Amino acid sequence: MGPGPSLVHPRVLQALSKPLVGHLDPLFLGLMDTIQGSLRALFQTGNEFTVALSGTGSAGMEAVVANLIEPGDRAVVGINGVFGSRLATMIERSGGIPVPIEAPWGQIIAPEALHDALSRGGPVKAVVLVHAETSTGVRQPLEAVGALCRSHGALLIVDAVTSLGGIPVEVDAWGIDACYSGTQKCLSCPPGLAPLTMSPRAMDIIRRRRTPCRSWYLDLSLIAEYWNDRSRAYHHTAPISMLYGLHEALRLVHEEGLLPRFMRHQLNGDALVAGLEPLGLLPLPSNEHRLPMLTCVTLPDRIDDTLVRTQLLRDHGIEIGGGLGPLRGRVWRIGLMGESCQQAHVLTLLNALEEIFAQQGWLDQPGRAVQAAVETYTHSQVSARRGA
Ligand SMILES: *Cc1c(COP(=O)(O)O)cnc(C)c1O
Repeated sequence: MGPGPSLVHPRVLQALSKPLVGHLDPLFLGLMDTIQGSLRALFQTGNEFTVALSGTGSAGMEAVVANLIEPGDRAVVGINGVFGSRLATMIERSGGIPVPIEAPWGQIIAPEALHDALSRGGPVKAVVLVHAETSTGVRQPLEAVGALCRSHGALLIVDAVTSLGGIPVEVDAWGIDACYSGTQKCLSCPPGLAPLTMSPRAMDIIRRRRTPCRSWYLDLSLIAEYWNDRSRAYHHTAPISMLYGLHEALRLVHEEGLLPRFMRHQLNGDALVAGLEPLGLLPLPSNEHRLPMLTCVTLPDRIDDTLVRTQLLRDHGIEIGGGLGPLRGRVWRIGLMGESCQQAHVLTLLNALEEIFAQQGWLDQPGRAVQAAVETYTHSQVSARRGA
């Protein structure tokens, strides 16, 4: 129940152990086509270039930046947590000029600040935003950003590593030009691939670069020849077993259905927050901008961060995440991603926390945390029956 990797379904583990075929075997090329179709449905896009890149989420991040940002390009980047900073570093290393818009950790990048950054100063090649900031639990609103970028001739790049498969990511409707994710968060696959989609506009820009992409391995014009060109030209050996695993993980996603999956994440996230409140653990982000799959709560002073997380792991077999950077020791990050997102996990964690808190003398009335979560589940069943 940390910020990823999440639990992996036995069907995915089984797929990982299947015998290998070659990376140019017609059977394997067919499997790649199926993966592309499933990923398009998940990203809600018609983009032809929709692939699973070799490498973890950071490889997706680096590929997008290294291919779209050329030396001298200015890129507006939202920094309100760890991953915005990482993006700014990558932009710099690609020779670009990051134009940071900062917000306190736990808050969103305000639409007005984006508007201001695009309106003053020189031309902007791209706006880069993190949809689900895993270091703070903040959900960045994106619905209106694409139109704003287009009116300034800028591309919109979105990090959907934690959001994809847990909340809607509507690439076409929101006007996103480049969007990448990872397999070990809400897709519940081991880490190792980066789902990635690029708009035709973005692919055009890559094909018309003034300078070759500085990364050969992540050069998307070469990778497109393997995934999308009729030639299926060898670039690097595809991680066959990982793609078997992703293929099965995506089947599980679509068997469940996107909407039920998003509702499951929302309900369990809501129940967890309701249960944490009686323990004095309140979400860092405002209710309006809170992610369901990653709950970041602030710790009251009396609570010993390391003691609780050590006991949770040692005595209860539960892992939760600590804070990063300026939030170290001040927050917990509890993941409810993909297969890890289950009612039983929410209730087991709350029960364990109550036990530890009571032992430490931090809690007068044990039972209220579990009860608050159970009430959330009961209400949702009652309203679902009413709706039916
Ligand atoms: C996890 C994460 C990444 C990095 O992914 P890795 O798989 O660790 O390389 C990037 N962005 C966000 C928002 C993440 O949560």
